[in-house]
Amino acid sequence: MECFIVEKENIDLEKRELILAGDEAHHATRSLRIRSGDPLLATDLSGTCYRCRVERDVPGTLVCSIEEILPNFGEPKRDVLLIQGLISQPSRWEFLLEKATELGVHSIQPIITERTERDSFNRERSERILRAAVKQTKRARILELRELSSFGEALSEAIKEGRRVILLHEAANSSSSISRSWLKGDDAIAIAVGPEGGFSDTEMELASKARAEIVSLGPRRLRAETAAIAALAILIDQ
Ligand code: SAM
Repeated sequence: MECFIVEKENIDLEKRELILAGDEAHHATRSLRIRSGDPLLATDLSGTCYRCRVERDVPGTLVCSIEEILPNFGEPKRDVLLIQGLISQPSRWEFLLEKATELGVHSIQPIITERTERDSFNRERSERILRAAVKQTKRARILELRELSSFGEALSEAIKEGRRVILLHEAANSSSSISRSWLKGDDAIAIAVGPEGGFSDTEMELASKARAEIVSLGPRRLRAETAAIAALAILIDQ
């Protein structure tokens, strides 16, 4: 069943009806040839999916009856914030946004560190990628893309939110390797991943003072996006 985005104002719970409009209706009717009687899934991007059936196919809109309301559809139990050093190549940054959505990340906090090679990213393009990814992966929530911040600010915010902070570091003691057993659970966490050049000594000290758990993913040096994806696959229990 294909998934589409529905605007909140186009959902009428009393009538148990919703309307797909604009690009979403266009995509459904023109590209996917969806017609009256077909089932579909609609996400409001903020926590609820609706299993629906198309009732009427009016030019430019699809009127659908709601058959089932699915709160938190496709959402993992664990609330994960990914604190990510900006990646210099846009294509690798965008790949990470897509994979983070697929793996169930709640929010991404992009950070500028001593060794990041960029100081900005294309927010509009990133948000387009997140919208496409949420439909593809069928989730009730769109990943929250936070405003760029420093590493220090990101750490403080994560702690204020009550998260356990796990920092990935290539040179971490191998005895502190990331493991499903000690990280199992559904407590809120933040995973910090450095940019291409890694975290500096000053940043590592800051993380230790903030009581971040510094962990390794093994003896090989991974690209930043590979490290993030590998950690997410271990830490997000479905
Ligand atoms: N030479 C850099 C350094 O000193 O960390 C390598 C940076 S690596 C390309 C980018 C980021 O991916 C690192 O800052 C770290 O967060 C994560 N990373 C890469 N390999 C890792 C590993 N084996 N274990 C844990 N984290 C790793």
